Amino acid sequence: MRRLPVERYVEGVLGGDRTALARAITIIESNLPSDGELAARLLDALLPSTGGSLRVGVTGVPGVGKSTFIDALGMHLIRDRGENVAVLSVDPSSPISGGSILGDKTRMERLAVEERAFIRPSPSQGHLGGVARRTRETMLLCEAAGYRNLLVETVGVGQSETAVRSMTDFFLLLMLAGAGDELQGMKRGIIEMLDGMAINKADGDNKPAAERARTEYAGALHLFPASADGWTPRVLTCSSTANEGIAEVWRMVLAHRELLAGNGFLARLRNAQALHWMNELTTMGLDDLFRRNRAVAERLPLLREEVRLGRTTPFAASRELLALFQLRPAHDRLGRETS
Ligand code: GDP
Repeated sequence: MRRLPVERYVEGVLGGDRTALARAITIIESNLPSDGELAARLLDALLPSTGGSLRVGVTGVPGVGKSTFIDALGMHLIRDRGENVAVLSVDPSSPISGGSILGDKTRMERLAVEERAFIRPSPSQGHLGGVARRTRETMLLCEAAGYRNLLVETVGVGQSETAVRSMTDFFLLLMLAGAGDELQGMKRGIIEMLDGMAINKADGDNKPAAERARTEYAGALHLFPASADGWTPRVLTCSSTANEGIAEVWRMVLAHRELLAGNGFLARLRNAQALHWMNELTTMGLDDLFRRNRAVAERLPLLREEVRLGRTTPFAASRELLALFQLRPAHDRLGRETS
C-alpha cells in the first residue's frame, strides 16, 4: 500500500474517517521498518486526542458467549444509548498455531454492519507482547477517531488477560452456570484482576442455575480483600441471545467509572498503566536490539549447542551473550553496526 504523508492519516483519523482509521491501523500493525517511523509520528500526533473513552476488557473461555455478548452490548450502546463502539481483540493463539482461539467464524453479526461500530480483529503476527502492543496502539487510534467505548476481547489464557487488563479500565469476566467446582478451579490471579463478572446464558432452563452461580460467585469474591480504589467487584447474570441483563452489565461499568473518576483512581490507574507500558516497550525494544546484534547472533547458535550438550551452563552462556551485547550495543534496525 502506498503511504501518504502523516498529516493525511492524522486528519482522516481525527475526522472519524473509517477508511483512514483502518489504514492508520495497518501502519501500526506493519512490520516494515519504514513504517515504524510513520507509526511513531502518527501516534505522537494523535496522543493529545486520546484517553477520553471507556476501555473495557472482556474475557472468558471459548464458548461462553463473548462475541454474542459483545454484539448485544454494542447494539445496546448504539441503539439505546446513541453512542458508538470499537471492538478490538488480543488473540494469543495466533502466533503459536497460526490460527486463532477467538475463531474465524462470523462474529458479532449485528455490529459488523453498524455504521457506528468499528471492529478490528487481533493482529496475527508476532508474540503476545507484540500483539498486545499493537492492540493498545490501535485502541489509541480508535479513541482519536472518536469512539467513546472500546471493548477489548481476549480468551481465558493467563498472559493475554494480564495484557488486556493492563490496557483497560474495567475488566469483565464472562462465566457459565452449573459448575460449582469451577469456583475452586478459578485461578486466583483472574479473580484479583476482575471488576465484574457476568454469568451468561441465564435464559430458559438455565435461569435458576445461573442465579445460584451468581450467589456463589458473589460469596467467593467477597472473600477477597477490598481493592484500594473502593470498588467491590459485582456479579450479575445476563442472556446475550435474549438481550437480558446487558444494560445492567453496562450500568455496572458506568458505576465503576463514576466512582474511579470521582476519587482520582482512574487517573492513578491510567498513570500506572502508562508506566507499565513504558517498561514493556523498553523491554521489547531491548530484546529486539539484542536479537539483531551481530556479535550476539554469531555466537548464539554455538552457545545454544553447548548448553544443550551440557558443556556450558545456561548462566555462563547468557552472561557471555550479555557481555557481547554490552561491548557492541549499537546496531541499526537491520542489524548492521552503526558505529
Ligand atoms: P465465544 O466463543 O465466547 O465468543 O462464544 P460465542 O459468542 O461464539 O457463543 C457460543 C455459543 O453460545 C453460540 O452458539 C451462541 O449462540 C451461544 N450463546 C451465546 N450467548 C448465549 C446466551 O446468552 N444464551 C444462550 N442460550 N446461548 C448463548
